Amino acid sequence: MAALSESASPEAAASPEAVFHDEKHASYLVAVSKNTEAIEFVLTEYMRMSGVYWGLTAMALLGRDVHKEMDGDAVVAWVLRCQHPCGGFGGGEGHDPHLLYTLSALQILALLGALDKCDGAKAAAYVAALQQGDGSFHGDEWGEVDTRFSYCALSSLAILGELWNRSPPLIDVAKAVDFVDRCRNFDGGYGAVPGAESHAGQIFCCVGALAIAKRLDLVDGTLLGWWLAERQCDSGGLNGRPEKQADVCYSWWILSSLTILGRSHWIDEAKLAAFILECQEGDGGGVADRPGNMADVFHTFFGIGGLSLLSWFDGTAYAGRPAIDPVFALPAPLVAELGLEASVCPRATASLLETWARARDEAKATPPPSP
Ligand SMILES: [Zn+2]
Repeated sequence: MAALSESASPEAAASPEAVFHDEKHASYLVAVSKNTEAIEFVLTEYMRMSGVYWGLTAMALLGRDVHKEMDGDAVVAWVLRCQHPCGGFGGGEGHDPHLLYTLSALQILALLGALDKCDGAKAAAYVAALQQGDGSFHGDEWGEVDTRFSYCALSSLAILGELWNRSPPLIDVAKAVDFVDRCRNFDGGYGAVPGAESHAGQIFCCVGALAIAKRLDLVDGTLLGWWLAERQCDSGGLNGRPEKQADVCYSWWILSSLTILGRSHWIDEAKLAAFILECQEGDGGGVADRPGNMADVFHTFFGIGGLSLLSWFDGTAYAGRPAIDPVFALPAPLVAELGLEASVCPRATASLLETWARARDEAKATPPPSP
C-alpha cells in the first residue's frame, strides 16, 4: 500500500500531512455516495441511512462543503422519503422505521441544515414511544432492547430540541439513566443489557448517553479508563474486547469514550494515529479496518473521526478543520450551533482525579506502622 511505503521514509514520518491522502479520501467519499450499482450498496441498502451519515460527516471533517459536493438537496429529499407516518425513519426507502436510522436521518438533516424540513414532533413522539417501563428503549416495534438504543433515543431527542424543553417531558430521563447504569459491569465497562459482557461499542453508547443526560458521575472513570486504555495493541490500534484484533472502528468507540472521560492521554496517541494512517487505501482513497484490507465508508468515517479526536490535523497543512464532537459524533461547530449540551470531563479534571485516586491507593498500600 502506498501509505505503508510512504510512511517508511523518514521525510514522510517527519511530515505527517505527506501520508494523509486528503484528496483521495474526498474523491472516494463522493464516489461511494453515488455508486448505487455497487454490490456493497445492494447488500447494505437497509442501512443506507447510516452509510450516508458516515460519508457526509467524514466529508465535513475534511473541511468540505458537504451540501455542494454530496448533492445535499437530493440527499435531503431522499431522507424525507424515508420518514414514515409514525415519525420514525427507515434505513432506506421502503424499509421499516428503526431508532438506529432515525438518529442517522436526524444527523444527516442537521449536517445539511434541513432539520426543520422533517416532521420533528412526530419523530420525537416515535422515539419517546419506544421507551419501556424499566427505562430501556426498544429499537423498533419488534422489541429488541440494547443500550445502543438508549444512546440513539437521547441523542435524537437532543438534536430535535425535545430532550429537556418539554413539560411534561417526552421520556423519563432518570429511568433511562438507571437502565444504562444497570448495564455497568465489575470491570467498569458496559454491555448491551444488564449482565452482558463489556464491549467497546456499547461502552461508547452508555458513556455517551450518560454524558447527554449529564450523569457522568455514575461512571467509574478510573476503572473504565484502564479497561479502555488496555485495548491498545502492539500495532498501536485498538481492539473492542480482550484478545481481539485491532480495528480502526475502535479508534472511534474507545477514543471518544476516553475523550468524554478526559483520559485520551492514557493511550499512546501518536501510535494510534500511525495505525490509522497505515489503514488508508493509498490508491483509491478511504480507510480500511486494518492495514492492507479494502476501504469502506464505515471505517473511513471512524478513521478520520479518530484522527480528529487525536487532534492529529492540528499542526499539519490540514489544520483549522472542524473537530468532531465526541458525544454527538457531529462536527463540533454544528453541535455548538444546535446548542447541544453534554458533560465532557476536561483532561485536567481527569488528572486531578487520577492524582487523588493514586494518593488513595498509596495510602491503602502503605503497611500499618509496626507495633
Ligand atoms: Zn471495524
